[in-house]
Amino acid sequence: MPRPPQDPFIPLAKPVREVPDGSIAALRRKARACHACPLWKPATQTVFGDGPADADVMLIGEQPGLHEDREGEPFVGPAGHVLDRALAEAGLDRGALYMTNTVKHFKYEQRGTAKLHKRASAAEQAACRMWLAAELARVRPKIVIALGAMAAQTLFGNTFRLTRERGEWRQLGEHARGMATWHPSAILRGRERSAEMYRQLVEDLRSIARQR
Ligand code: SF4
Repeated sequence: MPRPPQDPFIPLAKPVREVPDGSIAALRRKARACHACPLWKPATQTVFGDGPADADVMLIGEQPGLHEDREGEPFVGPAGHVLDRALAEAGLDRGALYMTNTVKHFKYEQRGTAKLHKRASAAEQAACRMWLAAELARVRPKIVIALGAMAAQTLFGNTFRLTRERGEWRQLGEHARGMATWHPSAILRGRERSAEMYRQLVEDLRSIARQR
Protein backbone atom coordinates (compact mmCIF):
# COMPACT_ATOMS: atom_id res chain seq x y z
CA MET A 1 0.00 0.00 0.00
CA PRO A 2 1.22 3.54 -0.63
CA ARG A 3 1.98 5.77 2.31
CA PRO A 4 -1.10 7.38 3.78
CA PRO A 5 -1.98 10.19 1.33
CA GLN A 6 -3.64 12.18 4.12
CA ASP A 7 -0.34 12.89 5.83
CA PRO A 8 2.12 14.96 3.78
CA PHE A 9 4.51 15.02 6.76
CA ILE A 10 5.63 11.44 6.12
CA PRO A 11 8.13 11.86 3.29
CA LEU A 12 9.14 8.21 2.98
CA ALA A 13 9.89 6.69 -0.43
CA LYS A 14 8.82 3.27 0.79
CA PRO A 15 5.27 2.22 1.63
CA VAL A 16 3.77 2.18 5.12
CA ARG A 17 0.63 0.15 5.80
CA GLU A 18 -0.55 1.88 8.93
CA VAL A 19 0.72 4.74 11.05
CA PRO A 20 0.25 4.52 14.83
CA ASP A 21 -1.14 7.70 16.33
CA GLY A 22 -0.35 9.53 19.56
CA SER A 23 2.21 11.73 21.23
CA ILE A 24 5.88 10.75 21.08
CA ALA A 25 5.63 9.49 24.67
CA ALA A 26 2.57 7.38 23.79
CA LEU A 27 4.22 6.03 20.64
CA ARG A 28 7.32 5.12 22.66
CA ARG A 29 5.12 3.21 25.12
CA LYS A 30 3.27 1.39 22.36
CA ALA A 31 6.51 0.48 20.56
CA ARG A 32 7.78 -1.24 23.72
CA ALA A 33 5.15 -3.93 23.12
CA CYS A 34 5.61 -4.20 19.35
CA HIS A 35 5.77 -7.74 17.99
CA ALA A 36 5.30 -6.84 14.33
CA CYS A 37 8.48 -8.68 13.32
CA PRO A 38 10.67 -11.29 15.08
CA LEU A 39 13.37 -8.83 16.19
CA TRP A 40 11.72 -8.00 19.52
CA LYS A 41 12.33 -11.46 20.93
CA PRO A 42 16.13 -11.71 21.26
CA ALA A 43 16.66 -7.98 21.81
CA THR A 44 16.85 -6.40 25.27
CA GLN A 45 14.40 -3.58 24.56
CA THR A 46 12.87 -1.31 21.93
CA VAL A 47 15.11 1.64 21.10
CA PHE A 48 12.71 4.41 20.20
CA GLY A 49 13.62 7.91 19.06
CA ASP A 50 14.69 10.59 21.47
CA GLY A 51 14.56 14.38 21.42
CA PRO A 52 12.12 17.30 21.44
CA ALA A 53 8.75 16.46 19.89
CA ASP A 54 8.88 19.79 18.03
CA ALA A 55 12.46 19.53 16.76
CA ASP A 56 13.00 21.10 13.35
CA VAL A 57 15.75 18.58 12.51
CA MET A 58 15.40 14.79 12.62
CA LEU A 59 18.41 12.48 12.29
CA ILE A 60 17.59 8.94 11.22
CA GLY A 61 20.12 6.15 11.68
CA GLU A 62 19.86 2.49 10.74
CA GLN A 63 19.19 0.10 13.62
CA PRO A 64 20.32 -0.12 17.25
CA GLY A 65 23.67 -1.70 18.03
CA LEU A 66 24.90 -3.45 21.16
CA HIS A 67 25.18 -0.27 23.26
CA GLU A 68 21.81 1.12 22.16
CA ASP A 69 20.21 -2.25 22.93
CA ARG A 70 21.61 -2.16 26.47
CA GLU A 71 20.84 1.48 27.18
CA GLY A 72 17.59 1.86 25.25
CA GLU A 73 18.73 5.12 23.59
CA PRO A 74 19.74 5.82 20.00
CA PHE A 75 23.30 6.87 19.13
CA VAL A 76 25.12 5.89 22.30
CA GLY A 77 28.38 3.90 22.53
CA PRO A 78 31.39 4.45 20.22
CA ALA A 79 29.31 5.44 17.15
CA GLY A 80 27.30 7.85 19.29
CA HIS A 81 30.53 9.45 20.49
CA VAL A 82 31.69 9.98 16.90
CA LEU A 83 28.35 11.60 16.11
CA ASP A 84 28.49 13.79 19.23
CA ARG A 85 31.96 15.03 18.24
CA ALA A 86 30.81 15.74 14.67
CA LEU A 87 27.68 17.57 15.87
CA ALA A 88 29.77 19.73 18.20
CA GLU A 89 32.23 20.56 15.40
CA ALA A 90 29.31 21.45 13.16
CA GLY A 91 27.89 23.77 15.84
CA LEU A 92 24.75 21.69 16.41
CA ASP A 93 23.19 21.08 19.82
CA ARG A 94 22.29 17.39 20.12
CA GLY A 95 19.59 18.24 22.65
CA ALA A 96 17.69 20.25 20.03
CA LEU A 97 17.57 17.37 17.52
CA TYR A 98 15.19 14.42 17.32
CA MET A 99 17.27 11.28 16.81
CA THR A 100 15.93 7.89 15.85
CA ASN A 101 16.58 4.75 13.83
CA THR A 102 14.92 3.13 10.83
CA VAL A 103 14.51 -0.13 12.78
CA LYS A 104 13.88 -0.09 16.53
CA HIS A 105 15.30 -3.42 17.71
CA PHE A 106 18.87 -4.76 17.74
CA LYS A 107 19.48 -7.66 15.34
CA TYR A 108 22.47 -9.85 16.00
CA GLU A 109 24.02 -13.26 15.67
CA GLN A 110 25.26 -14.91 18.86
CA ARG A 111 28.87 -16.18 18.54
CA GLY A 112 29.96 -17.52 21.89
CA THR A 113 29.53 -14.60 24.25
CA ALA A 114 29.65 -12.02 21.44
CA LYS A 115 26.59 -10.52 19.76
CA LEU A 116 27.53 -9.73 16.17
CA HIS A 117 25.47 -7.04 14.47
CA LYS A 118 23.27 -8.24 11.59
CA ARG A 119 21.44 -6.07 9.10
CA ALA A 120 17.63 -6.12 9.39
CA SER A 121 15.99 -7.81 6.39
CA ALA A 122 13.78 -5.94 3.94
CA ALA A 123 10.71 -7.49 5.62
CA GLU A 124 11.86 -6.39 9.08
CA GLN A 125 12.56 -2.88 7.81
CA ALA A 126 9.11 -2.78 6.21
CA ALA A 127 7.42 -3.95 9.42
CA CYS A 128 9.18 -1.27 11.46
CA ARG A 129 8.57 1.63 9.05
CA MET A 130 5.27 2.43 10.76
CA TRP A 131 7.17 3.70 13.82
CA LEU A 132 9.41 5.98 11.79
CA ALA A 133 6.36 7.22 9.88
CA ALA A 134 4.62 7.92 13.20
CA GLU A 135 7.64 9.88 14.47
CA LEU A 136 7.77 11.94 11.26
CA ALA A 137 4.03 12.60 11.42
CA ARG A 138 4.27 13.76 15.02
CA VAL A 139 7.56 15.76 14.97
CA ARG A 140 7.05 17.24 11.48
CA PRO A 141 10.72 18.18 11.01
CA LYS A 142 11.69 20.72 8.36
CA ILE A 143 15.02 18.96 7.88
CA VAL A 144 15.53 15.20 7.75
CA ILE A 145 19.02 13.69 7.72
CA ALA A 146 19.57 10.03 6.86
CA LEU A 147 22.70 8.52 8.40
CA GLY A 148 23.74 5.46 6.39
CA ALA A 149 22.38 3.59 3.41
CA MET A 150 19.39 1.94 5.12
CA ALA A 151 17.93 5.26 6.23
CA ALA A 152 18.85 6.92 2.92
CA GLN A 153 17.00 4.30 0.88
CA THR A 154 14.00 4.49 3.20
CA LEU A 155 13.77 8.21 2.48
CA PHE A 156 14.93 8.41 -1.13
CA GLY A 157 14.26 4.93 -2.57
CA ASN A 158 16.28 1.83 -3.41
CA THR A 159 18.21 3.44 -6.25
CA PHE A 160 19.84 5.93 -3.87
CA ARG A 161 23.60 5.41 -3.58
CA LEU A 162 25.33 7.02 -0.61
CA THR A 163 28.74 6.93 -2.27
CA ARG A 164 27.39 8.95 -5.21
CA GLU A 165 24.65 11.14 -3.67
CA ARG A 166 25.94 11.84 -0.15
CA GLY A 167 25.46 15.45 0.94
CA GLU A 168 22.99 16.38 -1.82
CA TRP A 169 19.96 18.24 -0.52
CA ARG A 170 16.55 17.38 -1.98
CA GLN A 171 12.95 18.30 -1.38
CA LEU A 172 11.13 15.70 0.72
CA GLY A 173 7.44 16.07 0.07
CA GLU A 174 5.93 19.51 0.53
CA HIS A 175 7.26 20.33 3.96
CA ALA A 176 10.81 19.11 4.41
CA ARG A 177 14.25 19.02 2.88
CA GLY A 178 16.56 16.10 3.32
CA MET A 179 20.01 14.75 2.75
CA ALA A 180 21.97 11.59 3.47
CA THR A 181 25.44 11.24 4.90
CA TRP A 182 27.70 8.66 6.52
CA HIS A 183 26.56 6.72 9.54
CA PRO A 184 29.11 7.14 12.37
CA SER A 185 29.54 3.36 12.67
CA ALA A 186 30.60 3.26 8.99
CA ILE A 187 33.24 5.86 9.87
CA LEU A 188 34.50 3.61 12.67
CA ARG A 189 34.80 0.75 10.17
CA GLY A 190 36.23 2.94 7.42
CA ARG A 191 39.94 2.19 8.13
CA GLU A 192 42.11 4.42 5.93
CA ARG A 193 39.00 6.30 4.71
CA SER A 194 37.77 7.13 8.24
CA ALA A 195 39.35 10.58 8.48
CA GLU A 196 37.95 11.66 5.11
CA MET A 197 34.48 10.25 5.91
CA TYR A 198 34.47 12.03 9.24
CA ARG A 199 35.42 15.33 7.55
CA GLN A 200 32.54 14.82 5.09
CA LEU A 201 30.10 14.07 7.92
CA VAL A 202 31.02 17.33 9.67
CA GLU A 203 30.76 19.26 6.40
CA ASP A 204 27.31 17.75 5.72
CA LEU A 205 26.10 18.51 9.25
CA ARG A 206 27.34 22.11 8.88
CA SER A 207 25.18 22.50 5.80
CA ILE A 208 22.04 22.02 7.97
CA ALA A 209 22.41 25.60 9.22
CA ARG A 210 22.02 26.89 5.64
CA GLN A 211 18.70 25.01 5.24
CA ARG A 212 17.09 26.22 8.46
S1 SF4 B 1 11.98 -4.12 14.94
FE1 SF4 B 1 10.27 -2.69 14.76
S2 SF4 B 1 8.61 -3.89 13.84
FE2 SF4 B 1 10.12 -5.34 14.63
S3 SF4 B 1 9.36 -5.82 16.69
FE3 SF4 B 1 10.86 -4.15 16.86
S4 SF4 B 1 9.63 -2.28 16.88
FE4 SF4 B 1 8.33 -3.92 16.07
